[in-house]
Amino acid sequence: MMPKDKLRQLTGDERLGQMRESEYLGAEDIDDDVEPILTISGLWNGTVTLQRGKENKDVLTFAEERVPGIRQVRPLIINATNRKTLRKLFGDVKASTLVSKQIQLYIDHNVRDPQDGGKTDGIRIRPFKPRVQQASPVPPCTDCSGEITPAFGKDARWVAAYTTKNYSVPLCAACAQKRKEAEASAPVPPADEIPEVPAPDMPEDGGLL
Ligand SMILES: [Zn+2]
Repeated sequence: MMPKDKLRQLTGDERLGQMRESEYLGAEDIDDDVEPILTISGLWNGTVTLQRGKENKDVLTFAEERVPGIRQVRPLIINATNRKTLRKLFGDVKASTLVSKQIQLYIDHNVRDPQDGGKTDGIRIRPFKPRVQQASPVPPCTDCSGEITPAFGKDARWVAAYTTKNYSVPLCAACAQKRKEAEASAPVPPADEIPEVPAPDMPEDGGLL
């Protein structure tokens, strides 16, 4: 039975916890097995509203709006553990030191829950500088020779990998759309060759980096 509320069905790589409406980044916002890398854009302090009430907190904001592993980047409340990690990493925790620095996040599954003393998930900062990603350059589009740019809410590398998987060659989103339309208007192939409509089995971001 469907409720009367207007719900949107999640498909493909959308997952539970991801559409959470919160002002601040939480463990639910980070995909499994991805350690997002973020660039600090600002340090803030003030009274933040938490489930358990209002508390004075330090907060980091980030330059990125979306990175592999986080669909919507939000500000991160900095607890004592993460503050110590930042100090270890960069020598001090001054705004002049931290702004524009990159950090790598991961989920610690053994954080003590301040509510009930049990275990919960928490966002932690890796005590090392993000590994330089030796990613090969994104190839140009085979059809128009243009640059492959981010599309479908994914980065250019993902678009190149996705189109290569579906069309055997890297394509920009516009050319992939043209090929799709051309296929659609082509004579109908035998039933067992009909391509599946927008493939939900997209490659994982993490595997592409
Ligand atoms: Zn193209």
